[in-house]
Amino acid sequence: KPIGYAAIGLGTISGMFMRACQESQKAKITALVTGHPDTKGKKFAAMYGIPETSIYTYEQFDRIKDNKAVDAVYVGLPNSMHCEYTVRAAKAGKNVLCEKPMATSSVECRQMIDACKSANVKLMIAYRCQYDPTYIEAERLVQSGALGNIQAVEGAFGFNFASPDFWRLKKKLAGGGSLMDVGIYPLNTARFLLKEDPTEFTAMVSTRDKTSGRFAEMEQTVTWTMKFPSGITGTGASTYGGTMPGFLRINGDKGSIELSNAFGYTGSHLVSLSKAVTVDVTSSTDDVSVFRLEADHMAECIRTNTQPKSAGEEGLKDLIAIESIYKAAGTPMA
Ligand code: NAD
Repeated sequence: KPIGYAAIGLGTISGMFMRACQESQKAKITALVTGHPDTKGKKFAAMYGIPETSIYTYEQFDRIKDNKAVDAVYVGLPNSMHCEYTVRAAKAGKNVLCEKPMATSSVECRQMIDACKSANVKLMIAYRCQYDPTYIEAERLVQSGALGNIQAVEGAFGFNFASPDFWRLKKKLAGGGSLMDVGIYPLNTARFLLKEDPTEFTAMVSTRDKTSGRFAEMEQTVTWTMKFPSGITGTGASTYGGTMPGFLRINGDKGSIELSNAFGYTGSHLVSLSKAVTVDVTSSTDDVSVFRLEADHMAECIRTNTQPKSAGEEGLKDLIAIESIYKAAGTPMA
């Protein structure tokens, strides 16, 4: 029997996740939580065969504890709401798959981990790239020693953010700027590939657009450096100001690899940059394929009572690094 998910927040990413569950044998959407039960709620309920009694508003959410068809919730809300809905889901006895960034502070991440531990439910952060076979091949190459001793890692991700009215540009809802939203991809992927967490940082933030009002509450661009306990150094960058195609390069003394077109839903490309290693792999062209792999992983963890690969502790480590980067830039989070 598939694991039943309640989707909380029926926006862009929940739309992808719900479509992915429809392609899955292991996961199914069985309930919806929305501020618009009569419109969005009914529309998605009809699409996915969900009874109208399983549509909840945010106020009614806690009643989900009595819904036996719900094993887990998928939190697809603005960042500042992740903590509240994870804690409420745990109290309702439901497992949690929460979108990235895990929360808007390490304090909230710890509350979420504690709430899920006390309730004996699983907590997974939706770092979808970690479930993409292309990234798993990169992980295998780095961890097998094929690249030799890793010396340095470089990565970036960004885009031009047009709308000033969106929650992503409100500090209260987003927690931070481009680093929280997209800089987290090269940061998390570097940690995933190296199996180390950076401990030293330098950073600069900049906002060149001072006129449109888009960046009144947060930074537009961040560039940081980081050092891992083994001595590996890294650079990262993110922006909301221009096209910054996602990439991650891992440079070792025997060989180097690059993930290009990285962090999107389709077509990440892993290649070797040196003769010592041969690899040329591209991610699926199906835009929900990686979401299905992510949904299936959590479903399997619930079914077999095992810890998810990208558990809450991984989300916490990224928030600790993000806080350190903002602090190093002289713009600590509130
Ligand atoms: P979105 O704006 O498309 O959806 C957010 C949903 O939350 C909407 O349904 C909205 O109605 C609801 N909502 C409830 N209260 C709200 C409030 N006070 N303000 C605004 N919206 C409110 O956003 P999204 O792009 O789907 O992002 C949701 C989460 O998913 C974020 O944490 C984001 O970082 C994450 N995300 C992850 C990926 C990924 O690939 N893993 C991609 C995009 C977004």
